[in-house]
Amino acid sequence: MFFEMTLSETKRVLEELSTAPTKSLGQNFLHDQNLARSIVSLLDIQPGDHVVEVGPGLGALTELLAATATKLTLIEKDSRLVPYLRRVYDAKHITIHHMDALEFDLRELWGHGPVKIVGNLPYYISSPLIAKYASALSPASILVLTLQLELAQRLGATRGSKDYGAMTICVGRRWDIRLERKLPASVFHPRPKVESAVITMRRKTREEIQPLDEGAFESLVRRGFSARRKQLHNLLPELRSVWDSICNDIGIKSTARAEELHSAQWESLTHLAAPSVAQHGTELFDVVDENDCVIRTESRESVHVNNLLHRAVHMLVFNENGDLFLQKRSLWKDRNPGLWDSSAAGHVDTGEDYPTAAPRELAEELGIIPPPLTPIGRLVPCSTTGWEFIEVYRTEHNGPFNPAPMELETGAFFSLPHIRLWASRSPEDFSPVFLKCLQLPSIASLL
Ligand code: SAM
Repeated sequence: MFFEMTLSETKRVLEELSTAPTKSLGQNFLHDQNLARSIVSLLDIQPGDHVVEVGPGLGALTELLAATATKLTLIEKDSRLVPYLRRVYDAKHITIHHMDALEFDLRELWGHGPVKIVGNLPYYISSPLIAKYASALSPASILVLTLQLELAQRLGATRGSKDYGAMTICVGRRWDIRLERKLPASVFHPRPKVESAVITMRRKTREEIQPLDEGAFESLVRRGFSARRKQLHNLLPELRSVWDSICNDIGIKSTARAEELHSAQWESLTHLAAPSVAQHGTELFDVVDENDCVIRTESRESVHVNNLLHRAVHMLVFNENGDLFLQKRSLWKDRNPGLWDSSAAGHVDTGEDYPTAAPRELAEELGIIPPPLTPIGRLVPCSTTGWEFIEVYRTEHNGPFNPAPMELETGAFFSLPHIRLWASRSPEDFSPVFLKCLQLPSIASLL
């Protein structure tokens, strides 16, 4: 069945539903099919793609998405429209959630194919929706969004323009944002009072993003733009004593205002103001023999380059529901960056034993003093374990955690059945060692 959501069809369906567009839900329905096609084409839907539409409304985009996406998830808040959507989009590959898209649990999206997000967003919640669907917990590779023109211009602004601000820099750090086209009010029913625009947000690759302390970066940028006309040094008083040398290093005038710095200068400023410690090759590890007896000490670099046998620990933290906390490794880890992994993991330091390393790593990565840990299995060295003897421990903790930003992108509890399904469909999302941990008899019996 194919519906062209023309203006007359839009009005006809509203009449059939005995309903009228609601302002408080930001309901302005698109009735230009050429534009709908052009918006959907920006998603470049491929076989296997899972498309998530926020606020499908009467289905102006949905019809086109349903025809091409392998899996389609619709999230609609309006209880008057949901029965209509369920009737028209009653197909195996389509799931409809009647809920506020801000409440949607992003964890559900992992393990069901590459995720693409699209929405003619209700303007009243556009900013929090972007913050959520572009967050570290979102698996989306691209977002195609129709926004109020003013917000689209802020997101896509260039340095020095009046729209260039904290949002431009903070969202732009991880996403390539492009203002694709403006939309006149006349393509919507009813006509909104403001102009709209379509933007694409494409996730940047690891190579395009500089490692740094994200919290410090956001804090500096937001404080820097909190009073646009003020010179930066007045807004960042903690840097006053080193301001001239910082300005010299990053190539700005000491009287600079926030809008004069491009993103790379904000990143350099963060590096100087809050140096972050990435992993370095000079750490020392015990090298062991095939019986796991210490034979000498070597640097991290030498151990890894020469495939020397050494020791590590993996910890699996369960909550009271039996869900397992997975961490998404930081993009700046030297191994398996950006992959989902055990709750915490790390090397056994030189002179340390496994039972001492396990709680230390949990404290360093998740910021917790764990309850007693139980050893639940052991992995022997091979290329998958990176030539490590690995002791695996389990413990119970409900969070919240205080994760170390340079160690974790993000983390969340997932049910074991979900993890099992996800790992069988997309093993490439996980660190190979975690996949081995899942096969330990003590864990496999829980699955
Ligand atoms: N996609 C349709 C189109 O292009 O014609 C509708 C767009 S209309 C601007 C916004 C849609 O989002 C409406 O269907 C509205 O009911 C829905 N909506 C509003 N707030 C929502 C929320 N918090 N969560 C999910 N949907 C929401």
